Amino acid sequence: MSEEQKRKQSEKMKGRYRGEKNPMYGTIGKLSPNFGRKLSRETKMKISESHKGSKCPWTSEFNRTRKGEKSPMYGKKGPLNHNFGRKLSEEEILRIKERNKGEGNPMYNHLKEDVGYTGIHRWVKTRLPKTELCQLCNIIPPYDLANVSGNYLRDLDDWLWLCRRCHMDSDGRLMNFIKPRIKH
Ligand SMILES: [Zn+2]
Repeated sequence: MSEEQKRKQSEKMKGRYRGEKNPMYGTIGKLSPNFGRKLSRETKMKISESHKGSKCPWTSEFNRTRKGEKSPMYGKKGPLNHNFGRKLSEEEILRIKERNKGEGNPMYNHLKEDVGYTGIHRWVKTRLPKTELCQLCNIIPPYDLANVSGNYLRDLDDWLWLCRRCHMDSDGRLMNFIKPRIKH
């Protein structure tokens, strides 16, 4: 953009929000969001003063001096911590649960990769060779691995290659077919 164009653009912008075009137009008095809010000169000075210098919690200077041993939280673990023994209300628990669902879960990637169903499934799949036929009916070729105990163990004995049909109604039949190894 040339200087000339810039100047023109600038001219065009000027006055764009003047008068009626201004989003604040007409919002004087009662319509103004600040209506009725009067701060005395003294109050304003006080606020201004309180924000000056290192007292301000947002300055890095202030935070730097409170690291480690100097932190008010230093060493305050267990009973000394203000969160110790804090009981969460049902509402709070629900909120946390909601927040931790799916991708919001801090363990999301971990679960997905290592200990979740998919992880175990993959683990078994790479170690337990697919059988020619379904291990239950021995008629139809299997289509997927099925878990026997329902506990998704990282144990090859806990998995079977089943056909779709056997997999569908495997719940009851599997438990009859294989002696339950896990006591409930
Ligand atoms: Zn089958």
